[in-house]
Amino acid sequence: MSAQQVFKPHALLDQLGIAKHPLIVAPDAQNAAIVVTNNPATGTPIAGVRLQSREELNAAVERCDRAFAAWRTLPAPQRGEIIRRIGEEFRRLKEPLGELVSLEMGKIRAEGLGEVQEAVDIADFCVGLSRQLYGLSMHSERASHRMYEQWHPLGTIGIITAFNFPCAVWAWNAIVAATCGNACLWKPSLLTPLVAIASNEAARRVMSRQEIFRPTDVDPADVFSLVIGRDDEVGEPMLADRRLPLISATGSCRMGRRVAQVVGARLGRTLLELGGNNAIIVLPDADLDLTARAVLFGAVGTAGQRCTTTRRLIVHASVVDALLTRLERAYKSVPVGDPLDARTLMGPLIDDRAVAAMRAAIEKAVREGCTLVCGGTEPIDRRAKQPGHFVEPTILRVPRGSIPAITREETFAPILYVFTVESLEEAMTIQNGVDQGLSSAIFTDSVRSAERFLSAAGSDCGIANINIGTSGAEIGGAFGGEKDTGGGRESGSDSWKSYMRRQTCTVNWGGALPLAQGIRFGE
Ligand code: NAD
Repeated sequence: MSAQQVFKPHALLDQLGIAKHPLIVAPDAQNAAIVVTNNPATGTPIAGVRLQSREELNAAVERCDRAFAAWRTLPAPQRGEIIRRIGEEFRRLKEPLGELVSLEMGKIRAEGLGEVQEAVDIADFCVGLSRQLYGLSMHSERASHRMYEQWHPLGTIGIITAFNFPCAVWAWNAIVAATCGNACLWKPSLLTPLVAIASNEAARRVMSRQEIFRPTDVDPADVFSLVIGRDDEVGEPMLADRRLPLISATGSCRMGRRVAQVVGARLGRTLLELGGNNAIIVLPDADLDLTARAVLFGAVGTAGQRCTTTRRLIVHASVVDALLTRLERAYKSVPVGDPLDARTLMGPLIDDRAVAAMRAAIEKAVREGCTLVCGGTEPIDRRAKQPGHFVEPTILRVPRGSIPAITREETFAPILYVFTVESLEEAMTIQNGVDQGLSSAIFTDSVRSAERFLSAAGSDCGIANINIGTSGAEIGGAFGGEKDTGGGRESGSDSWKSYMRRQTCTVNWGGALPLAQGIRFGE
């Protein structure tokens, strides 16, 4: 009997309607044509996923382009009605899809469900957006002329996503992009292909069943397309493909640099959502209980695998010991374990490489003079004997006046570096003194300090919070960061403009042909 015959897909795949999906096969680590997706809590395979080829990518782009040609002509509010139904489908699937996120990515169940809720929320947002997509109108200097701008969709949007938000990041992009009239081609991380298949199929199912958009000779479901393949076979060709006018890429700064170069060389557009190195500043007048709770969620939540994870804590000398006492107590009682167990607060890291990177960062920090407060390499060694990629949340105290090189890097793990400072100015210098610029926060009861932090001379990040931690953004705002974080904005506010092209229109409704700037030509 072959491996394929004995393979019994996980019950969640059945509940999500993808147990018989043609790309899902038996896990076989020896077969280079498939990728094996593992449960990070046990290290055991969940399924295999057949890798797609460059030819399949090419065919998918062609199908998307045909779908786009029809989809863009459907009135936007009618697209919005279909998006509303996609939101309903995600509501229906919230539990099994959220659990699949936990199973495949390792974040705890509450966070897995929260991620699917983000897909629901962005769909709700887009129903209203579909009746807006507004442009400005201007007064023309010429008599009997009208000037205004309008927004049109771009085409097929290439969406490349990271493993840590395997559903939400696609939803922020694809649901907004589709509302704007684009088709979407998604290349997910090979660490989380099952969530990608389940999420994309949810959208395709709605597209296949609805009666509003029924173009001839085009499959409406192709508005939401997926290609699963290796970076050299599928990822790089996407970057170079002129048929993809915008590549929206979420991942490491290393990946973003490559995307910017290749897409920039063909003068394509990019929307980059890259790494962060987020800090919380704590002033003497901060509410320390509130602060400790925010730090715990920001630094330990998702096992430190959020782009907005709190990685640096910059604390005034007068409160640093009191805050560390609270944090140490809280850290030591964090239940680490099976992410699907309701008592767990921190699940595993995604894989062995992530555990090794955490170990290397702790060792480097200690070499650079940091002292261990809790966690560290000892629990990594202890837990290495058990299945799964478990670590313990770690706090390292930075020596006064130094900025160790490791604290300037993003290590995708629950490590918190604690700095001690004497003033807000010193804190701001440390906070802004890194290459990344995603999320930032300050805890203070002083209006002056808070406003200083929010001023043009304050935080240089895309997100700046007062008395709220660095992670857990709502979909209503534009999400993204500056400097090496890439500058892109997605999700709410007017992020939709990234997925559209602006057209300035001038209409002459008079009988003369006056020229701008009063130029007279051949009169
Ligand atoms: P990664 O950079 O390893 O991979 C991200 C995606 O890029 C994957 O789909 C990968 O296959 C693809 N990719 C890599 N090289 C490519 C290439 N040459 N051509 C085409 N595609 C390529 O990142 P990861 O480990 O999956 O995710 C963690 C990183 O993502 C962290 O740095 C985190 O901060 C960042 N992230 C940022 C945000 C944000 O909104 N700013 C959100 C989530 C994650």
